[in-house]
Amino acid sequence: MTKFSPYWWEDQPKYSESNGIPVKADVVIVGAGFTGLSAAITLAKSELSVIVFDSEEIGFGASTRNGGMLGSGHKVSPQQADKKYGLDIARKIHKEANASLTFTTNLIKDNNIDCDLQICGRLRTSWVPQDQVSMSENLNKLKAIDHFNSKMIDPNLMSESIKTHLYFGGQYYQDHGSVQPRKFHYGLHQLAIDSGAKVFGNKPVKKVTRLSTDEKDGFIVSISNKTINCKNVLIATNGYTRPTLSKYLSRRILPVPSYIITTDEIGIERVNALIPGGHCIVETRKRYCYYRPTPCGKRIMIGTRAAMHSISAEKALPILQKTLSEIFPELDGVKVSHCWTGFTGFSFSMLPNLGSHNGIYSAMGYCGNGVAMAPYLGHMAALKILEPDKKVTVFEDTSLQSRPYYFGKPWFLPIASVYFKVYDKFDNYRRNKYL
Ligand SMILES: Cc1cc2nc3c(=O)[nH]c(=O)nc-3n(C[C@H](O)[C@H](O)[C@H](O)COP(=O)(O)OP(=O)(O)OC[C@H]3O[C@@H](n4cnc5c(N)ncnc54)[C@H](O)[C@@H]3O)c2cc1C
Repeated sequence: MTKFSPYWWEDQPKYSESNGIPVKADVVIVGAGFTGLSAAITLAKSELSVIVFDSEEIGFGASTRNGGMLGSGHKVSPQQADKKYGLDIARKIHKEANASLTFTTNLIKDNNIDCDLQICGRLRTSWVPQDQVSMSENLNKLKAIDHFNSKMIDPNLMSESIKTHLYFGGQYYQDHGSVQPRKFHYGLHQLAIDSGAKVFGNKPVKKVTRLSTDEKDGFIVSISNKTINCKNVLIATNGYTRPTLSKYLSRRILPVPSYIITTDEIGIERVNALIPGGHCIVETRKRYCYYRPTPCGKRIMIGTRAAMHSISAEKALPILQKTLSEIFPELDGVKVSHCWTGFTGFSFSMLPNLGSHNGIYSAMGYCGNGVAMAPYLGHMAALKILEPDKKVTVFEDTSLQSRPYYFGKPWFLPIASVYFKVYDKFDNYRRNKYL
């Protein structure tokens, strides 16, 4: 029987709860995912009093539901970034994307966070021959900007990396890795508490009110039956940002669902035969499939856009099963142990952002690439709070934009689902021409 909850949550220890909500703090953080906890660690280590609230059980958000693929990726090419922001910012974006991977890998290693970290590499597979050409061009541009441990894989040698005939080559990222995200999140939570932060689940923040026009006077944060006075507020709610909390942010972040399944145990030999090397895989096709072996090496986990709008995991299950057997026909009929969904947060610029509106800080917009970037930007948000006059990251330049007629309820995503369904057919047609 398939369970409709994350595979990662099985047999995991409970989060410890902090006691007694203080009436004041230096910083209140809204959202206890990777972003919020990472910011809390840095701030608490700097001797600031920090409270983190999550509206749900701790660990409810995307940080424990994701594919656990740890990489430096973002969705904007150097040419696109150059065109929009200029060469200097384009270069910095690439450098900081790399820095986010180093930061998070070191955060795990330096604090001995037990989260099945594997530097297993990542393969990005070309859906059509043109993808191979454009990835190769991009790679040369990126290598000219910063050291980049990545290489192209010849189409004829793909069978050494993956047992499927679907792709026309790929790009391999040697430094990318994988984690068990629930264990990583648990480790960050523990570190935040040990550093002195207080973290509370089931405490939705209802309202943040500025005490006066002078930011220095601070804020009042309202939860159900209590208010907290604080000097600074950081909103770290990414794909779970709702208009009830912030009309401003919810107009600028799209909650886009992603869906994942995990197979029953199929055995280490079978997984190794399908994915020799045990790396993570992402595709170039718009369907955006990503898959990997689980840390035990006995199962395969695959995620994809089953729909652009929110559908139930039960409804997504057959779509994901079909995708898996298209990639690995021999897995047709294999039982699925878990199927689940969660919200990614997309910015309209397709880049993360560290911003401030009415004196309230926010860090979000990871567009599905947050395992390395969210802890990094949380840390950067903390540095910004510590030194507000200093520019701490290039992601302060990627301002969040809104769109007309979008007020935080993505009414157009069902329409986008239809568009992408048609696009998927076109993608298949495009590819089949080369077979
Ligand atoms: C299915 C899926 C697969 C993914 N796979 C990958 C992957 O393989 N690699 C990768 O790099 N990225 C992946 N991502 C993206 C990554 O998980 C996220 O970018 C990252 O976890 C964001 O962390 P966060 O802390 O900003 O947000 P979250 O972890 O989503 O935390 C936000 C929290 O805010 C809380 N909240 C909302 N409103 C309030 C309120 N009013 N008061 C208090 N709390 C509130 C929510 O309850 C939630 O817990 C995936 C995401 C999903 C959903």
